[in-house]
Amino acid sequence: MVSRWACDRCGFVAWTRDRSEMADVTGSHLLAHHSDALSKSDFRVSWDCPYCATAKTAYDTDGAVAEFKTHLHEHVVDRIAGGTHVADLVGWDGVVRVDAPAAGDEADPLRTHFHGAAGLAVAVTPTPERLVRALDGALDAWPRRTVIVSTGEYDFEATPDVDFEGRNAEIVELDPRLSPDEVGETVSRILDANHEPGERVSLEVSVFHQIVAAFDVERAVAFVRMLAARLGDAGGVLQLYVDADADRNVATVLNFLDETIDLTVAVDDGRFVRRP
Ligand SMILES: [Zn+2]
Ligand SMILES: [Zn+2]
Repeated sequence: MVSRWACDRCGFVAWTRDRSEMADVTGSHLLAHHSDALSKSDFRVSWDCPYCATAKTAYDTDGAVAEFKTHLHEHVVDRIAGGTHVADLVGWDGVVRVDAPAAGDEADPLRTHFHGAAGLAVAVTPTPERLVRALDGALDAWPRRTVIVSTGEYDFEATPDVDFEGRNAEIVELDPRLSPDEVGETVSRILDANHEPGERVSLEVSVFHQIVAAFDVERAVAFVRMLAARLGDAGGVLQLYVDADADRNVATVLNFLDETIDLTVAVDDGRFVRRP
């Protein structure tokens, strides 16, 4: 679980693993909203709090800015919620776009955050060994059931310490030539066979770029909409890992999916953020 702070002036939301980390986030963010409250003149820097009567003038610019940030943080510290999950923002039911390269480890804290809070975790990934290592390293206990759909052959020598039977996990190797419809059908069958009523589902799609590259925009859009609808029946969160800068077609598909995507988050320095 993580702590959450939502700015009440814009749509910015940040989640940090440790509540104390939030001071950096709130202070910098609020300072950006109130930059005119900070002024420099005659070799000195002054700040004038927009929320209360406190004002300071100092020669030490860095010190004054840091003090102002800490002061701003104190005004919102009561509104930091503890014990939250990113998926709470969509009621554990919807599509979350994660702005991070699918094959890198930058987003692993977010992957394990989602999967670790689910009863059934399903991941379609080109790098299954990395996901298994991330889950094993981050979680005290794996989900009740984990199904990893790999687009290549799983290399068991890459995860020698992981006992799959003890973790109720299964690797399904997918033919990389399969169409989006066939990938969707595979996921649908996995949900049928493994989902227990009332259980949260975390569905990771880290092959979105491959699907967009191999098929046209229309089919890629239809694939995500179909998966979202299928997951809507079971109740769960679909996470789409995308790097819109890497591929122009991915950006086009994401535009079409604007209505389908309920929340967009990024990983910033180990923290999770929603930018307005
Ligand atoms: Zn804001
Ligand atoms: Zn103040």
